[in-house]
Amino acid sequence: MHDSNTRAIAPAGESSGSDRLAGNSKDDNWAEARGMIDGLDGALNMAHEALDRHVIAGHGEQVALRWLGKAGGSRDLTYSEMASLAAQFSNVLASHGLGKGDSLFALMGRVPELYACALGTLKAGLVFSPLFSAFGPEPIRTRMEIGSAKVLVTTASIYKRKIAAWRHEIPSLELVLIAGEEAPEGCVALGPALRAASPEFETVRTKPEDPALIHFTSGTTGKPKGAVHVHNAVLYHAFSGRKALGLTPGTIYWCTADPGWVTGTSYGIISPLVNRVTMIVDEAEFDIDRWYGTIQREKVESWYSAPTAIRMMMRAGAKAAKPYDFSSLRFLASVGEPLNPEAVVWSGKVFGQPFHDNWWQTETGGIMIANLPDMEVRPGSMGKPMPGIEAGIVARKDGILSDLGPKEIGELALRPGWPSMMRSYLHEQARYDKCFVDGWYLSGDLAMRDEDGYFWFVGRADDLIKSSGHLIGPFEVESALIEHPAVAEAGVIGVPDETAGEVVKAYVTLNPDFEWSDDLERDIRGHARKKLGPAVAPREILFRNTLPKTRSGKIMRRLLKARELGLPEGDISTLETDET
Ligand code: ATP
Ligand code: MG
Repeated sequence: MHDSNTRAIAPAGESSGSDRLAGNSKDDNWAEARGMIDGLDGALNMAHEALDRHVIAGHGEQVALRWLGKAGGSRDLTYSEMASLAAQFSNVLASHGLGKGDSLFALMGRVPELYACALGTLKAGLVFSPLFSAFGPEPIRTRMEIGSAKVLVTTASIYKRKIAAWRHEIPSLELVLIAGEEAPEGCVALGPALRAASPEFETVRTKPEDPALIHFTSGTTGKPKGAVHVHNAVLYHAFSGRKALGLTPGTIYWCTADPGWVTGTSYGIISPLVNRVTMIVDEAEFDIDRWYGTIQREKVESWYSAPTAIRMMMRAGAKAAKPYDFSSLRFLASVGEPLNPEAVVWSGKVFGQPFHDNWWQTETGGIMIANLPDMEVRPGSMGKPMPGIEAGIVARKDGILSDLGPKEIGELALRPGWPSMMRSYLHEQARYDKCFVDGWYLSGDLAMRDEDGYFWFVGRADDLIKSSGHLIGPFEVESALIEHPAVAEAGVIGVPDETAGEVVKAYVTLNPDFEWSDDLERDIRGHARKKLGPAVAPREILFRNTLPKTRSGKIMRRLLKARELGLPEGDISTLETDET
């Protein structure tokens, strides 16, 4: 179904590179991942690699997923139980005449059925697209339309509240499956359907370049884009999970991201299972005691989280962590937003391990730049390009890209060719084409590289502030602000100014025990001036109870700016907190 809109990456001046995309180049570093993939006569299927392969190899009794229920209690699913459940799900889909290339959207909380559904979908050759369950009706509908959804899997309550009213206006939608025992009219209850289905299903022989996943970007900078990924991405998921998150067979691993976002699928379903870990899935949302208790009780070894959660932990202070034993932890990683140096240092003190920042995007499908376990961590740096990944800092002049040297700020670019790179933006071919210039994929983020090859995030290209001839990245200013004991989070933007072009303005939230006052504002401004110098420090600092964020936890600076300037807010479908 997506074939018309799915094309291989063919950057200007290069051959189509299908060999490189397939991970076939001699020197690629993820080729070793192929050794663990048994490829079925040229066919490749993510679900087979994630589940069946382990069962065939005799590891069926290992726990694949330990689910922690919101209301307490837990449930373990072994690799063979997961494989059977996924196969039953595949059979349910096949019994409704669904197959290769059809797209299935999932809209539910982090329950075991969601994971079986993801893998059963892939096993049956369909394309899986997870949505965040807290989305409202409009974002759900738009995404299902963009992705030509044929199947929706959801709960009765979500269906009634958010879907029923417009369900029949989506012409492609053929089947609505409802988790549980009963279904509203016109829908099918999944519980009985699964029980009636056989736990045997012959995996559909998808080709490496067949679409497997549609992920929508976070919508931080505008309307979310639907990025298409193919089964071959599993090679890179396997490789990068092992290399950048320390996932090895039996590792107890917790990825806190929801599968509604690319992190929660690439590194919350596929990569951990392919690497045969035991993964922890917590149905509940962030709660500091629950999180700390989970690490201690489950003996989590590798933990993948995000700056927004880490800042919440910091806000609760070291005393909240004191009663807990974190000695099981051996690797901590973070993604999604810049990780403030303060957070890295703090985690070293509290967990005995620094958080290792890594950088990637929905588009890249996997981790591109990382602080690897065996690397010296430089707080504030995203780390170095993954083995086999070529990254550059480039600038565009007269339509030509040039590679910049150390310490120069430019756009972060990558040489296409790794297996998990997106193959298209759905229905947005022109936008997709624009990402590729002179053999580079342009990320839209600004960064710089130091003499030792570490990459430092500066800001999104749209967020850069130009003030009196200085280029100021909001991240640098935000990091300095949160070093002040009163500041919990900061969002920094540039506002127009007659003399300077733009001046820096900051919005902050406070740590508990602090109250906003003119004195405090002066004190924070003084602190920032000392750290950053008067040209870079914010001219004005405003207090907010919360900052506008995407549901995946990213500060939406464009919204701060639109509100500041009284401009239209643009697409706010992924906005979580809406307090001005
Ligand atoms: P949209 O593309 O719709 O605006 P988005 O870019 O936030 O949304 P994602 O693909 O979820 O959507 O996020 C990728 C972006 O997140 C990166 O381009 C970068 O700006 C930011 N990001 C991710 N990891 C890091 C990191 N470690 N340091 C700094 N920024 C990061
Ligand atoms: Mg983006």
